[in-house]
Amino acid sequence: MVFPLNRRWVLPATVMLSAALLPARGQARATRPGVSIFAPVLIYHHVKLLKPTDNAIERGLTVLPAQFDAQLDHLRTHGYSTVTAIALIAHLLKSTKLPPNPVVLTFDDGYTDVYVDVYQQLRRRHMVATFFIVPGFLNTPRYLTWSQVTDMEHHGMDIEAHSMSHPDLTTLRPEAVWQEVTRSRQVLMARLHHPIDIFAYPYGAYNTAVLRAVSRAGFQAALTTHQGWVARSDQLLTLPRVYIDIDDTLAVFAGRLRAVPAVLAQDPT
Ligand SMILES: [Zn+2]
Repeated sequence: MVFPLNRRWVLPATVMLSAALLPARGQARATRPGVSIFAPVLIYHHVKLLKPTDNAIERGLTVLPAQFDAQLDHLRTHGYSTVTAIALIAHLLKSTKLPPNPVVLTFDDGYTDVYVDVYQQLRRRHMVATFFIVPGFLNTPRYLTWSQVTDMEHHGMDIEAHSMSHPDLTTLRPEAVWQEVTRSRQVLMARLHHPIDIFAYPYGAYNTAVLRAVSRAGFQAALTTHQGWVARSDQLLTLPRVYIDIDDTLAVFAGRLRAVPAVLAQDPT
């Protein structure tokens, strides 16, 4: 099946940076024989209107509100069930029950627009998502406030960690990696009063030392920007996600959900 993808993905520099730093592990899961794919974990950043001043990086991190609305409607009308990342991990670790056709929506960085154009749209439809928060960014311009994060969590959203200040962890000394990883967990736990179990690597960048720090800090799982579906056989500290692009038509979006190779194989590398 051919989808109307008439150009290569324009990925934000952050994603290209991370891809350049990572080992080649890019083949889409759907194309790998013998791998039992399980669920798509979609990755978003901004959901907002573009401004004339937005550059290519900002555009690459953005999905339009009307486009996002249509994607949520597609999920509902096609029998998908949104589940949080923590519910997915619990299922993988402990075989807890999940609804049919699970899909995880994730939003990195905690931009202020997700409070209006994501959270409210999800609530209206009784859907859930996971938000990877950078505690050092909260209560600053362009980012969520602590009270918004608390409000979102009280209404069923999953709040997880994305480091303290969003550095490329592979460039830091070990002590600094440890501070970024463990402090983000501690600060969120102190505010939200429950364990924080999932980490998302800033820029998707990690190496052996970063993996070790994330594990030692107590995280049960971590998400990358590798392009692909989660398989039951995956290592929990390097789970892949499916990138959603501003130029995705609804047909392309549908293909990404179903791990259609022609669509999913659009590898960022
Ligand atoms: Zn990020």
